[in-house]
Amino acid sequence: MLELKHIHKTFGAKTVADDISLTVADGSLTAILGPSGCGKSTLLNIAAGLVPPDSGEVWIGGENRTDTAAEKRQVALMFQDYALLPHLNVWQNVAFGLKMRGTGAAEARRRAETALAAVGLAAESGRRVDALSGGEQQRVALARALVVQPQLLLLDEPFSSLDTGLRQQLRGQTLAQVRAQNIPAVLVTHDPEEAFALADHLMLMQGGRMVQYGAPDALLQRP
Ligand code: ADP
Ligand code: ADP
Repeated sequence: MLELKHIHKTFGAKTVADDISLTVADGSLTAILGPSGCGKSTLLNIAAGLVPPDSGEVWIGGENRTDTAAEKRQVALMFQDYALLPHLNVWQNVAFGLKMRGTGAAEARRRAETALAAVGLAAESGRRVDALSGGEQQRVALARALVVQPQLLLLDEPFSSLDTGLRQQLRGQTLAQVRAQNIPAVLVTHDPEEAFALADHLMLMQGGRMVQYGAPDALLQRP
């Protein structure tokens, strides 16, 4: 479970998080929807530990992680710019983070292959990543994010560079992984269609404030 508690953040005179409190349950996805510059990415970065809040707390898996460094938070991040390592093949890209954390080579490879199978890329495991399509590369990035068994998945517009068909496929696989690994996920997007298609809960943000929150159906039924 992810809990943001009374998060405040300003940059100079600009308030980008104004008393934001949000709970995301295990196995569920919450979308943060709002115009460019409203503070979505900053809030995601605060959850990740990449930006410190001015005040408020970040709890992950029932523990207060507000003062825990990003690399110790067990958080997986996926961005539009997914930055795979071009000189490594597919399974080596996925295993890389595990090796960095001290997992042995054989175990890292076994877990990488399992993660690749989960996103439908078992057959591509030995290929060079620069020989893959954009959609396949994005699935490698998803496998890489999840192979470390994170306690939280953070997604910052990860599908926006893909064409419609690939976007649908990757959205489905991402949601399936969130359910299968039973972790909370937060998706930042400025695309209402994407937010409504994917989210269990939606948070509408404007000028650093949460202006609406609820299940997609409930928001749609508002007068
Ligand atoms: P995007 O919204 O495309 O993800 P960024 O998050 O990189 O783009 O930047 C969004 C805005 O935040 C930009 O207008 C940029 O001027 C501002 N910004 C980002 N980082 C800084 C910084 N370190 N100092 C000042 N402004 C910044
Ligand atoms: P969004 O993700 O909704 O587009 P951001 O969280 O990236 O919004 O940015 C919110 C506001 O904070 C923007 O006005 C941006 O310019 C500003 N901002 C973001 N990062 C920094 C930074 N490091 N220093 C100064 N201003 C920043």
